[in-house]
Amino acid sequence: MEEKLSREELVARLKEVAKDKTEFQPHIGAMCYEPMMPCMQEGECEHCGKKYEFFDYDSNGVWEFEMLRDIASLGYDVMLEYWCDECVAASNLRDGNDDLPNDYEPHGHNMVLFFRLNEQEPYHVSLLKDYRDLQVLKAFLFNKRSFTGSFDSKVPLRSKLDRIEKMIGIKID
Ligand SMILES: [Zn+2]
Repeated sequence: MEEKLSREELVARLKEVAKDKTEFQPHIGAMCYEPMMPCMQEGECEHCGKKYEFFDYDSNGVWEFEMLRDIASLGYDVMLEYWCDECVAASNLRDGNDDLPNDYEPHGHNMVLFFRLNEQEPYHVSLLKDYRDLQVLKAFLFNKRSFTGSFDSKVPLRSKLDRIEKMIGIKID
């Protein structure tokens, strides 16, 4: 049974993941369905309240909240908000996030993660690249060394170390 880790234990786990030798295993098999055209959805910024429209490529939001619930079940304080582009632009969330494209999809529906180890500390706030970031974070906190990527490929967590550090606000240093 996994439990909540301390800051020191999280650093130790980051180091374990960095040394891990799990291989990338591409899924064998063809993509056998046509990609669907995403639906246009209306969202409301949870930071300023502005309404916006966006293309929903990922899901209806249920999946993300299942990931969050699992992470919270370990005892971490975690929240997700959807922000409009203006609120993200006015924040410093893009600083040091050169791996995030400037106009990543879905437009206007930016996933902002709040994470902290306990109520005594302020939230660490980060901008997610896409919904798979939550899958990466969950795998890390549940002491896995890989996660299931696109088309059921097995992706080593080691390749996402930078994303994990940004989401938890803790670095190997
Ligand atoms: Zn906003």
